[in-house]
Amino acid sequence: MKNDNCIFCKIANGEISSATVYEDGNFRVILDMGPASKGHALLIPKEHFKDLCELDDSVAEKVLPVCRKVGEAMKKSLGCAGFNLVQNNGEEAGQTVFHFHVHIIPRYAGGPKIVSWTPGSETPEALEETAGKIRAAL
Ligand code: 5GP
Ligand code: ZN
Repeated sequence: MKNDNCIFCKIANGEISSATVYEDGNFRVILDMGPASKGHALLIPKEHFKDLCELDDSVAEKVLPVCRKVGEAMKKSLGCAGFNLVQNNGEEAGQTVFHFHVHIIPRYAGGPKIVSWTPGSETPEALEETAGKIRAAL
């Protein structure tokens, strides 16, 4: 299903043109218009899903193989040393376009580390308590 008010539905289905690096029946992969590094791409399903929680399993299982294909092509063609996959779910997690997508971000030797955080510290008991809460909700 497409959503008429969704820009990524229009991009993924070719109604709005974009710099496309890959397309198949399920996905279009385009270059991000505000790249974190040269070649920063977005994998966008052609169907509308708000986020990972809404994504159909039949589409979800196809996401990583396409990300790998594009990441390998980036390494060959752009000379990046590696790449990050980033996938935001919810406003508080940094999601700004509410149509599921995966960022594929080339990482270059000597360049900035794009995805980073300051490690905190937790006791083993606190880790186990948190793990128990998540397990109980699965
Ligand atoms: P989010 O923050 O939702 O994970 O990422 C949305 C991404 O989509 C941002 O990196 C933003 O630059 C990109 N973006 C938003 N609108 C457009 C667009 O119309 N064209 C392209 N190529 N990228 C877009
Ligand atoms: Zn959409």
